Amino acid sequence: MRKRIWLSSPHIGEQEQKYVQEAFSSNWIAPLGPNVDNFEKDIIKYTGVKFASALSSGTSAIHLALILMGVKRHDEVICSTFTFSASVNPICYLGATPILVDSESNTWNMCPYLLEESIKDRISKGKKPKAIIIVHLYGMPANMNKILSISDKYNIPVIEDAAESLGSTYNKKHTGSMGEIGVYSFNGNKIITTSGGGMLVSNNEDYCKKSTHLATQARENYPHYEHKEVGYNYRMSNVLAGIGRGQIEVLNQRIESRRNNHEFYRKKISEYGISFLDEPLGYFSNRWLTCIVTNSFKDREAIRLSLEEQNIESRPLWKPMHLQPIFKKHPSYLNGLSEKLFQNGLCLPSGSNLNIEDKNRIVDIILKTINK
Ligand SMILES: *Cc1c(COP(=O)(O)O)cnc(C)c1O
Repeated sequence: MRKRIWLSSPHIGEQEQKYVQEAFSSNWIAPLGPNVDNFEKDIIKYTGVKFASALSSGTSAIHLALILMGVKRHDEVICSTFTFSASVNPICYLGATPILVDSESNTWNMCPYLLEESIKDRISKGKKPKAIIIVHLYGMPANMNKILSISDKYNIPVIEDAAESLGSTYNKKHTGSMGEIGVYSFNGNKIITTSGGGMLVSNNEDYCKKSTHLATQARENYPHYEHKEVGYNYRMSNVLAGIGRGQIEVLNQRIESRRNNHEFYRKKISEYGISFLDEPLGYFSNRWLTCIVTNSFKDREAIRLSLEEQNIESRPLWKPMHLQPIFKKHPSYLNGLSEKLFQNGLCLPSGSNLNIEDKNRIVDIILKTINK
């Protein structure tokens, strides 16, 4: 069996070891220390957002973002249905109700028209949603102009789930820097990784200070342990922040590699009934994962299974949350797009460490399968 090609494997170099070594030699192994502070500064510098709070995961960042927006039991929170479950789970941690909204065709992210329809409908049913979680899926920015103007009109804050889109921009602004709060993830499969980690960012300093406070067990500033509210153990460790510091130095290279993968696939396999998501004018995607859409579920499965037979991992696009057994009872506002993408779409291996032989191997198998 030939070597396994993964969908998106971690890509670590030498420079990470320097910062991790520093953590060891200075004995800063605790979940605070110079790497954490500096990694926050690195992200601020890279994205142009004003403040940051380094956390143990993207999921914990979404959880804290919802707490900061005042979300409580029985509140409603709007979220994209076409996403990973981690966008929605934190709404449930708080006992609030997810309201699931479908995608638009030119970005696959939350449809602004349906967003407004859902807000009007929720208000008419007696409850105004407390927050909107929008996702920049697979690295493609959402339609922020329209979404932010709806957020302004109804005075409902936007949380940007930019877990998959670090480095992507919309009209030159970084995803994660445009809403009330932005969230990044450094999980092992993301464009850069700390093996596990996340960050909450905002242009409002109070949110980031409060996030760090809640993430360190909400400990007050006393010589003894004093607590006035429920806290969490959500802070990023100083060792892992060291990996992050090394990774951010190569983030632009990682984006370039992933975008090159995307262009390679496009050049070789479009025109065979396979389509790709274009970048609308003013949108820059980090192309975290390259996704293809085939003409039918049958074609999609044929490609997936022939790749798997050759020890190559690929994966159907996200199964929409309104189809998930755990979330299907919640209200949803749909247009059929996310269901169609789930049926016919496939994520191809997209790691920044794929080499040209890997990519040729993948493309050959796909072409053989669709020409059968
Ligand atoms: C990965 C991911 C998350 C969660 O991030 P973790 O760091 O794994 O907790 C949230 N939302 C989306 C869209 C993701 O892809």
